[in-house]
Amino acid sequence: MITQTALIADRDTVGWRFDNTYSRLPDIFFAPAKPATARAPRVSILNHRLADELGLDLGAMSPEVAAALFAGQALPAGSQPIAQAYAGHQFGGFTMLGDGRAILLGEHRTPSGRLVDIQLKGAGPTRFSRSGDGLAALGPMLREYVISEAMSALGIPTTRSLAVVTTGERVYRESALRGAILTRVAASHLRVGTFQYLATRQDPSNLRVLADYAIARHYPELIDAPRKYLEFFRAVMDRQASLIARWQLVGFIHGVMNTDNMAISGETIDYGPCAFMNAYRPDTVFSSIDHAGRYAYGNQPAIAQWNLARFAETLLPLLDSDQEKAIAIASEALGEYPALFERHWLAGMRKKLGLQTGEADDVELIRSLLDWMQESRADFTNTFRDLSSEEPPAGDRYQVPNFQAWYSRWRLRLSRDGRPSTAAYAVMRTVNPAVIPRNHRVEEALSAAEGHDDLSVLHRLLAALASPFEAGAESAQYQDPPLDDCNYRTFCGT
Ligand code: AMP
Ligand code: MG
Repeated sequence: MITQTALIADRDTVGWRFDNTYSRLPDIFFAPAKPATARAPRVSILNHRLADELGLDLGAMSPEVAAALFAGQALPAGSQPIAQAYAGHQFGGFTMLGDGRAILLGEHRTPSGRLVDIQLKGAGPTRFSRSGDGLAALGPMLREYVISEAMSALGIPTTRSLAVVTTGERVYRESALRGAILTRVAASHLRVGTFQYLATRQDPSNLRVLADYAIARHYPELIDAPRKYLEFFRAVMDRQASLIARWQLVGFIHGVMNTDNMAISGETIDYGPCAFMNAYRPDTVFSSIDHAGRYAYGNQPAIAQWNLARFAETLLPLLDSDQEKAIAIASEALGEYPALFERHWLAGMRKKLGLQTGEADDVELIRSLLDWMQESRADFTNTFRDLSSEEPPAGDRYQVPNFQAWYSRWRLRLSRDGRPSTAAYAVMRTVNPAVIPRNHRVEEALSAAEGHDDLSVLHRLLAALASPFEAGAESAQYQDPPLDDCNYRTFCGT
């Protein structure tokens, strides 16, 4: 048994430096919240490497103290738990939402001066829980941990995962599951839906407060910019175009790109039914609730634009006092999105093919590779990785005239690119991962953890995912696609 005094003494040596800017905003932005009682918290996994980056010393804590801390039972000094208010379009339909199963402890200042949100996901009901229980199960929380850390290692902007603890409480879904809490670290949790919340309340003065807050926190270079709210919109649009391009380039399918899951910071947020594509197929969908394929791999760029249109609508009162003019300004800016996305995507694709220069035919060259991949059901990740070495790709799949013709064309293009091919291949191996979190590997790790409390499978997977661009003996087992993932389904875990 540990005493409350021991908890307080220990938690203060961790190195928290809270500065809670969000809870200093007007009251309508949030509601005070309190983590629910967790009878028997226990650490499932701690991210020591991330803790180091954040200037937190978890090593000095006993496992009991760490469990109590990350279960919200002993709050860090300086934290001020709140649930944030927001709204959002979910599968196209508008709803008032808010943190229904997440509690923001506050913002921690890292040694490099960055301000990051520290949030407990699954810590019990809040004012925004509606009919939900505010809780989360172990499987989905470990899933978010694994995939967010994999995304980070791939160099893709993302929220991070600092810890998962089990609560000792049951969570009831289709069956009784072990309750768990994920500690999420994010640049912030400002969403397109946060703006929608204020726009719906028709509260232009607080809308301006929110926009100024978001600019100061994420786009400080715009504070004194002329037409700063328009520039703010364009900057968010650019970060989103870049982010979605990054997803496309590694085959990441978010699965639930509702406007409340689109972060103003440009980070990937809310790992629910997300999954990586194996065989290249633009209509790939894994989410069990996405019947119409709204959030299919190939739709992600267009859905991002749809979400950005909803974001632009919220900003209209800040763009011009004349609504007609404001709409014209917003429409013109939004019209830049397709070209912006294409630019980010094409730059990324050129890199994946080892090209440093641009030629007019490059798009066609890329498209014809993708077409071949689709026809031959080639694995997206492995095809690019197979192209990333000097030797022509081995394997029967590649010994067909269609591919051979494309390969010769690409080699010719590489030879015009002005650098030795060894250099091109070296670059390719820094952008074409060998290891991604394959669905069957993730499931295998989660079921060992959930089923018999065995985290060794998960730790081995995490170790491979931490160096995704290194292909070695240990990573080989993670490179094979599943034999068949047509029936693979992911769930929101709510
Ligand atoms: P998500 O699908 O995780 O983006 O969640 C959408 C909305 O539903 C958010 O407002 C969540 O806070 C809320 N929500 C999801 N799961 C729960 C739950 N178990 N209890 C209460 N609210 C929830
Ligand atoms: Mg969400």
